[in-house]
Amino acid sequence: MKFFPLIFTSILFLFSCKDPGIAKRKAAQPEINPRSSWNAVAPKAFATHVPVRITVHHEGTKLLATDDAIRKIKGIQTWGMGPDRKWADVPYHFFIAPDGKIYEGRDINTVGETNTEYNPAGHLLICCLGNYEEYEVPEAQLQSLIRLIAWCSTTYKIPAETLATHRDFSKQTTCPGKNLYKYFESGVIKEGVRKILGK
Ligand SMILES: [Zn+2]
Repeated sequence: MKFFPLIFTSILFLFSCKDPGIAKRKAAQPEINPRSSWNAVAPKAFATHVPVRITVHHEGTKLLATDDAIRKIKGIQTWGMGPDRKWADVPYHFFIAPDGKIYEGRDINTVGETNTEYNPAGHLLICCLGNYEEYEVPEAQLQSLIRLIAWCSTTYKIPAETLATHRDFSKQTTCPGKNLYKYFESGVIKEGVRKILGK
């Protein structure tokens, strides 16, 4: 009789997987470097939200794969929380460096920040470090972006179909830059995500 609870739990588990709205496969978690890796300070008081869509940005200033991404992220936090912006934390939930490394940004359940007119409530914000109006996106960064989007989609139950970029919501910016945006226009990113999710 002592095996009965195990069998019962297994049956429950099987039924819980039969949700037609969820992707066929759960994306593997890519390596995400924690806030401590870039010496984050604790956030200030923040507004909470539930992310329902994924929105991609570039940071907009030059950063090459050989440059110091950690210093860049720390600088964004110091500036953003300072007198210029008075933000609660870094503006984005994740950063991806040109070398493909992924870094944890602000708490996923907090509303991000923006310098433009759109309201970032409900948006899970991913920022590719670098300027993709001027430079080409390194392959390692593009592949990490696809993996991170897929993982965020299954982990936070956000349909991959919601994937968009900053400029899709704001007339005030070209973010994420034409050289990153072209991968959204061509479908390369959505196709990569679909492949991981088995859709
Ligand atoms: Zn942006």
